[in-house]
Amino acid sequence: MSRKNTHLQSYRLVSATILLCLLVMAAVAVSTTGEVESAAADSMAVAPPQPTAVYSYMGYSQIRDELLSVEAQHPGIAKVYDIGDSWEKSQSIADRDILALKISDNVLLDEDEPEVLVVALHHAREWISSEIVMEAIRNMTDGYGTDSRVSWLVDNRELWLVPVVNPDGIDYALSTDQWWRKNRRYNFDDTYGVDLNRNYGGSLNNDSAGAWGGVGSSHVPSSDVYCGVSPFSEPETQAIRNLVIQRNFTLCLDFHSYGELVMWPWGYTANLTSDNAALVSIGTQLAALNGYTADQSVGLYPTTGDSIDWFYGYDNIFAILFEVATVFHPQTTQEASGVIAENMPPILLGIEIAGDRQQRQFAIAHLPVGAREYSASGFDLWANITADRGVDESAISLNYRIDGGLWVSVPMAIMSPNDTYLGAIPAQQPGCLVEYYIVAHDTGGVELMSPRYAPYEIHSFTVVDSLPPVADAGDDLPALVGSPILLNASASNDNTEIVSYTWTFSYNGSQVVLYGEVVAFTFWVAGSYEVLLNVSDSSGNYNTDIINVNVEDPYIPEFGSAMIISVSLLGMLLLLWLRRNR
Ligand SMILES: [Zn+2]
Repeated sequence: MSRKNTHLQSYRLVSATILLCLLVMAAVAVSTTGEVESAAADSMAVAPPQPTAVYSYMGYSQIRDELLSVEAQHPGIAKVYDIGDSWEKSQSIADRDILALKISDNVLLDEDEPEVLVVALHHAREWISSEIVMEAIRNMTDGYGTDSRVSWLVDNRELWLVPVVNPDGIDYALSTDQWWRKNRRYNFDDTYGVDLNRNYGGSLNNDSAGAWGGVGSSHVPSSDVYCGVSPFSEPETQAIRNLVIQRNFTLCLDFHSYGELVMWPWGYTANLTSDNAALVSIGTQLAALNGYTADQSVGLYPTTGDSIDWFYGYDNIFAILFEVATVFHPQTTQEASGVIAENMPPILLGIEIAGDRQQRQFAIAHLPVGAREYSASGFDLWANITADRGVDESAISLNYRIDGGLWVSVPMAIMSPNDTYLGAIPAQQPGCLVEYYIVAHDTGGVELMSPRYAPYEIHSFTVVDSLPPVADAGDDLPALVGSPILLNASASNDNTEIVSYTWTFSYNGSQVVLYGEVVAFTFWVAGSYEVLLNVSDSSGNYNTDIINVNVEDPYIPEFGSAMIISVSLLGMLLLLWLRRNR
């Protein structure tokens, strides 16, 4: 063995020893890390984040991943659509798509339901706006099937939610410049960004003052309100524009921060839109829910090329802009969660209002009761239905089911006085659960139900029978010992049905109980018996009657008369014999 080999062997030995040590250390490190992580996970599971902890805002990829996860968990009602590329993707610099999540029942079908658009984060630094839309997405999908209002809205609306209009911007603001506002286009003058909320096509209402590039925007690329080289020059605004053109939105909610404001068009002028009354009504109702100030958009500052003026000007979409929170980035979990939570009710109401934007006077007055007395002729259900543009009398229906069976729909007919409608449910046995709801339409085709979110909410009543039967045991009965008699209760009656007949009396020192409408019994002991009849119906109502049965021995009177006859005959014979022998 040469020295070289020895060296080599010892080198190998040392190497092996070092490797072994490294492996052991690595294993220890892995297990230690694992313990630390699981301990952290445990503590997170036990205690919610501290209210003073710094809120962690989601970046683009987190939001994308959650949208895909929502789609995977709720494939029947949630579908992710790629509606366009960010500017950096269009330049092959990054890989960020603009994603829309559609939420509706039969999500793959284009149903004839009011369509609502909810968008956020036009502006890179307005992270809280995306968090609000993501929370709305969680509520709408997780609440489906458990929350009656959410379920009804998912069934009766088509929601399109775009949590990040500006994907490049959100990541740049989160990573590099928290006050960044615009997208990340590289401009011709070596600056970056176009203000996406100045890049829409203007008011489109033939008022040149409302055109793109006017008041409230700048043509200087370095400006924070740079409107771009032309309307819809940016892929991000093109994506929203194309979605709006393809769909048929009736209402749009656009989330920004900050200012605690709820605003509606116009933004470029103090003039009122032709739908001002409805927009004021809607904006005021939404603001009442989050406590913000309701105002026409121009009240904040005049703008052109913004989203809501274009939505309304392009297609009469009732567009509402929210400026949430009092800062761009609510810092603690408590602050951020509060802002998110306070904007959930306005989103739900906005989605609901989208079905009847004019907030028409349309109402169904119906007073449900929990229990109704059995009736052989069934149940009449009355409702008072009024609509400011008239009720479609041919399209009022009463939908009912018995004990959770199949739904049956019957028309409700208009009665006198006007506005009164009557529907009938056939007779049901006591104990049945009758569930029902009323569906009405006005002459404009708007649908309304009672209860509001039927069939996730339903009226119901239980059929009860509180009327007792009438027991009738017949007249008192004479009887003879040894001869059977019939106890007959067939003259008894009930509003439903008598289900049991019981006859009770004391006989020969014990209690006799007989069952049946007509029963036979033979007494072998003479006497007067008090017989109690008890009849009951299926609801447990009962009634009693008493008759007396007088039982006599048939041999005593026959033997007595024979004796009298015999004694009489003997007496007469004795008299005759005495006369002859006198
Ligand atoms: Zn904004």
